[in-house]
Amino acid sequence: MSVSDRSGILGAARIVVKVGSSSISGENAGAIPALVDALAEAHGRGAEIVLVSSGAIATGMPYLNLDERPTDLATQQAAASVGQNLLIFRYQDSLDRYDIVAGQVLLTAGDLENPSHRSNAQRAMERLLALRILPIVNENDTVATHEIRFGDNDRLASLVAMLVAADVLVLLSDVDALYTKPPHLPGAERIDRITAGDPLPGVEFGSTGASGVGTGGASSKVSAARIAADAGTAVLVTATTLVAAALRGEHVGTWFEPSPSPTGRPLP
Ligand code: GLU
Repeated sequence: MSVSDRSGILGAARIVVKVGSSSISGENAGAIPALVDALAEAHGRGAEIVLVSSGAIATGMPYLNLDERPTDLATQQAAASVGQNLLIFRYQDSLDRYDIVAGQVLLTAGDLENPSHRSNAQRAMERLLALRILPIVNENDTVATHEIRFGDNDRLASLVAMLVAADVLVLLSDVDALYTKPPHLPGAERIDRITAGDPLPGVEFGSTGASGVGTGGASSKVSAARIAADAGTAVLVTATTLVAAALRGEHVGTWFEPSPSPTGRPLP
């Protein structure tokens, strides 16, 4: 189903929501219940919801006595291994309030390029959704190489949206919308809507996130949004604190129109 406007989110059948590390770990770990409230509300009206959540490395850091995100891959993987477990526990603990069961799905971008891994993942996701389970997807950090540092899962979220042919992808961060230049700079203007294929001349998107644990910035959101929009999925980029309003179809964030003529659902 093509969703042409924010208000269409209320009737969307399948929605992928992506949340980054800084929104749900460390001092923001307490934000998980509010995120779950919004997801449960959409699930409760019959929508199929997939959550793509980063935060394994950041959640694991204190258990490895790390104050800062590790820079070497092996320690990132160790932190992710410890943190992923706790992250899913926190989500499930919160989802229990709504009698919703979470399913953990760990993927790499490579899995989605391999035809047999891709079709296995697709079949598993379809079954989870048919069972009204809420899949929670993250990178499989133990076997990820460059993906573990790439875009804080924004690209993975767009690939998952394509895998399940989602109607809408909601990319959450700590900024309420995209701006014509980094929002702290004078003259930055909020972008309300981006038409399919608009190259956005003169717009500069920052490449890093505002926090120390996240790795995705506005440019990573835009690249990911374009992948999904080109494949026919509408995309909303907004703040984690606005997720409930976003899922109610309120006028928040930056809306990427889906391509009116998606060229199938090819891999980027
Ligand atoms: N899979 C990583 C995590 O959950 C992605 C986030 C990142 O690399 O910052 O921590």
